[in-house]
Amino acid sequence: MELLTTRAELRAWRNKVHGSVGFVPTMGALHEGHLALARQSLKDNPWTVVSIFVNPRQFGPNEDYERYPRTLESDVRLLESLGVSVVFAPPVEEMYSPEDEVVLSLTRLSRLWCGGYRLGHFDGVALVLTKLFHLVAPTTAYFGEKDFQQVRLVEKLVEELFFPIRIVRVPTVREPDGLAMSSRNAYLSPRGRAQAVALYKTLEYIQTLVPQYMLTEDLLREGRQYLETRFPEVKLEYLAIVDEYSLERIEHLRQSAAPRILIAAYVEGVRLIDNMPLRVPEEEEAV
Ligand code: AMP
Repeated sequence: MELLTTRAELRAWRNKVHGSVGFVPTMGALHEGHLALARQSLKDNPWTVVSIFVNPRQFGPNEDYERYPRTLESDVRLLESLGVSVVFAPPVEEMYSPEDEVVLSLTRLSRLWCGGYRLGHFDGVALVLTKLFHLVAPTTAYFGEKDFQQVRLVEKLVEELFFPIRIVRVPTVREPDGLAMSSRNAYLSPRGRAQAVALYKTLEYIQTLVPQYMLTEDLLREGRQYLETRFPEVKLEYLAIVDEYSLERIEHLRQSAAPRILIAAYVEGVRLIDNMPLRVPEEEEAV
């Protein structure tokens, strides 16, 4: 495995290899969720590049850029044991310069849900991915469904900027109790960790109410009530039922072929997100 830190090294490596290249962009502090993406890529491609870069442009001024966990040495060891070809871990100066003039700005999709609370976040994600896609020139890139809005945005980015890259979605990897794995879970105290399962539990609870309730207003009301009663220390940011393609809110579950619940909440000041597809029985199966 090669650990590369400059654009020039990466380009030189890329120019040498033939066959499909899988790419897994990450911010490091790797856990089983990231590794599931890397494993999928290793299965699909003779070459796999994993990038580790905490992208300053996707953090707001009051967010956790400075304290975001950085564990490069153990990340590299993990990826080496998996059989990854290249780890690309550039310093910030290699990706951005103070004289930079180019920014990317996305419209509707980037302003919904997480984008409404983390202003500029998805523009920063789109910019760094555009740079990384140019450098790595992958055949396929792998993204986790854990960050569902991000996956949809990346699919649009690749489509509209004509990147010849196939985007593969990888299902969310969870802890045994259901908590979606996230580098930010490391911020939680044992007490907070116990509360954090609230997001998953709320999604699961809402699923149990289908098909008894089919109006999203009812499902969301019941879901919020469940969360408030069972997990009073968790501060809900948003809970929504959307069409998973447009990410627009729906009113009735039959309004979408693929309804999905999205949730964001704070536990001990740590912002956590999760999502789940809602299974809706066919009309004739409904009770
Ligand atoms: P991050 O390091 O948080 O930027 O995440 C890098 C990639 O890993 C993104 O595509 C995430 O969606 C994905 N990812 C993070 N957590 C999980 C998880 N629990 N299950 C599946 N994919 C994940």
